[in-house]
Amino acid sequence: MSLVQITGFINGEFLPASDQTQPVYDPGNTSQQIGTISNTSLDDVKNAIESAHQAFLAWRNTTVAERQNYLKQAADLIFQQKDILKELLVSEHGGMLWEAETDFYLGSGVMSMYAQAPDDLLTPKEIAEDTGWIRIHKRPKGVISAIVPWNMPIVLTMMKLGPLLLAGNTVVLKPSPFAALALTQLLAKIAEIFPKGVINVVHGDADVGNLMTSHPLVRKVAFTGGTATGAAVMASAAQSIKDVTLELGGNDAAIILDDIDFKSILPKLLKGIFTRSGQICFAVKRVYVPKDKLDHYFELLCEAIDQYKVGHGLDADANFGPLNNKKQLSIVQKFIENAKASDQCEVRELGQKLNPEQWENGYYVLPHAVKTLDNSLEIVQLEQFGPIIPLIGYETVEQAIEYANDNEQGLCSSVWSDNIDRAYEIAQKIEAGSTFINTHSFDSLQLGMPFGGVKQSGIGRELDVNETLKSYLEPHSIRFVK
Ligand code: NAD
Repeated sequence: MSLVQITGFINGEFLPASDQTQPVYDPGNTSQQIGTISNTSLDDVKNAIESAHQAFLAWRNTTVAERQNYLKQAADLIFQQKDILKELLVSEHGGMLWEAETDFYLGSGVMSMYAQAPDDLLTPKEIAEDTGWIRIHKRPKGVISAIVPWNMPIVLTMMKLGPLLLAGNTVVLKPSPFAALALTQLLAKIAEIFPKGVINVVHGDADVGNLMTSHPLVRKVAFTGGTATGAAVMASAAQSIKDVTLELGGNDAAIILDDIDFKSILPKLLKGIFTRSGQICFAVKRVYVPKDKLDHYFELLCEAIDQYKVGHGLDADANFGPLNNKKQLSIVQKFIENAKASDQCEVRELGQKLNPEQWENGYYVLPHAVKTLDNSLEIVQLEQFGPIIPLIGYETVEQAIEYANDNEQGLCSSVWSDNIDRAYEIAQKIEAGSTFINTHSFDSLQLGMPFGGVKQSGIGRELDVNETLKSYLEPHSIRFVK
């Protein structure tokens, strides 16, 4: 397989390969290099921001209908590129083929949703007065810095690109170094649809990110990633009072009530836990069950998890793939080690290695289940972002709610019950951006439903057309007095 070599692109032109390159290896087979990324120099990051600013001066004057038409073409293109780029995406980020396909489907769906947004969301509103009028225009902000992670790079990018472009802004976007190849190739094709300079892409890590969040021409930072990085982004953006949208880490609780058949919900629950090897911001990361059923449910859970086969993302027999990178592997291994060393929980390693000979050359981890009554354990309190799931016993429903809320993160959550009224009542008491009833995975999201976190899971919402567009616009009030 020939190496995929990517550079940033500015104003419609790819940058020449720099001497600052980093190799990209397949996380499922680290002896296989699949590409290289040329990091963007800080001078070129400045050029990208200036080019986005120049493009903004014309792009902001395009009509909403024109911009919708561009987005429609982008949505079609993402869909077409799925079959061309999905295997590359698997080879660089480690997910299963169907997960990569889903990423493209969702990315295209999000773009299409914004292409069809009602255009009156952007038309000026008038308030008549006896002495004249007030007209409230909605102006784009300018250059947006968009920074995305590696776990679902296509849809997470389109969740920013769709609304920011529709609102009339331009963008400098930085993919994660751990999933930059397929996304950059896709973005280069999307950028060709738009006027030059509207979409620019740069590569690098914190140094490039810092400049993108502090440059004076950047008016907003749209960031998805870990909570600690989100805090650094916010601090940097604060120096020049930039607006931020932060989609950060989650530690989602699933509360199982005593009236539901646990065995029957296991397939759905497991999908919510193990898709993308647990590396989804709103994966189920803590499961609360009635204390008197804890032992029984733990056995049922372990029996089901034990059927899992872990292997390369392109291996159709695998249920889930490796972790994305070495750092993530050591974080998850440390969680497992610490849980095993604790006398407050029982840890079980489950499932099978699909091709054991691959394992020493990949970031593979078998699924693990943990049984405990201690809500303060590290494995319960912190986001694992890996295939390990704690099952925690609760005494009363009030205690389950207290346990779920006793956490600094609040992205999504779920309540599982045969009594929907009861589940709904409990759902309203959970501190989270979204709470699902009897579902909690990819499938639970609906385009148009506001998505985002409370507490340290973030600031702002994406996917809600109205709210998200607002976050990329500035109201400009003009008042005439006779
Ligand atoms: P990360 O925070 O390490 O990196 C995210 C992005 O930020 C990358 O592009 C990285 O290069 C960049 N970056 C790093 N340092 C920076 C700095 N100082 N300034 C600006 N940018 C910087 O996250 P990750 O490991 O790529 O992704 C995993 C995390 O993302 C998990 O915590 C997960 O829950 C979270 N996540 C959240 C959502 C959501 O919608 N809430 C979605 C997906 C992932």
